[in-house]
Amino acid sequence: MNKIENSNSSGFLFDIDGVLTKPISNKPAESVIDPEILIIINDLIIKHPLAFITGRSKCWLDEQFIQHINQENQLIAPIFMEYGLVYLYQNKLTITDKGLVFREKIYPHLLSYIEEESKKLGYYFEQKTYCNFPAHGSLWIEKKYTMLSIASNRDIEPMQVHLMIEKLPLALKNQVRIVKHHLGIDILPKGTSKSDAVQTFLKFNLSQNIDTWYVFGDNPSDKEMTNPLSKWRYFDTKENASEDTKKFLTSILSKID
Ligand SMILES: [Mg+2]
Repeated sequence: MNKIENSNSSGFLFDIDGVLTKPISNKPAESVIDPEILIIINDLIIKHPLAFITGRSKCWLDEQFIQHINQENQLIAPIFMEYGLVYLYQNKLTITDKGLVFREKIYPHLLSYIEEESKKLGYYFEQKTYCNFPAHGSLWIEKKYTMLSIASNRDIEPMQVHLMIEKLPLALKNQVRIVKHHLGIDILPKGTSKSDAVQTFLKFNLSQNIDTWYVFGDNPSDKEMTNPLSKWRYFDTKENASEDTKKFLTSILSKID
């Protein structure tokens, strides 16, 4: 792990899934929040500017994450979800204009394409939230506020889903960004990136005079968080809340305690 440069003026950006989670031993594709790292994170929030930036939905966050963050800390640290198209800050949920336009103008076309292609492949698809996810056997479109997520399903070959999305009609493909990851596929407004969320966060005025930003991710799209920052260190956590990450964060906390 990298050396700490100046812990008094450090800021932190975390992806959640694969960074603050640990796999469930009998369900390797699924994960839960790591309780050890949460203790550290709750301490960090009090002492440093910190934001969470995830592709996950509000529903997933409610069920898996937000309850583990101390209530006072929830007011301090913004949670950017759906790649920053939606965010929760000081108890207020905001859906960005970019997200709303996508939801209204592009999402319905994507959905009818997927429905048609699913029929050809003999799948039926269900559109449900994470908190009410469908039984095995269907293609699961996860209901979110803005973006479209297709979750990999144990009964449907992920490659088939990837191919289906690769063959999107050009007129539609030109308006979207496709992100593939180990849980499935995310389809976002073109040009959307996790750096948008960081830019919004920097405007909250919490983040002035930061010497070094420490950015933690497990997917190539997470590195986009570093784009608006002048000085940063990126940590690739390889789909786990690693011992290295915990040690590093603990050492930062011990420097200023
Ligand atoms: Mg991740």
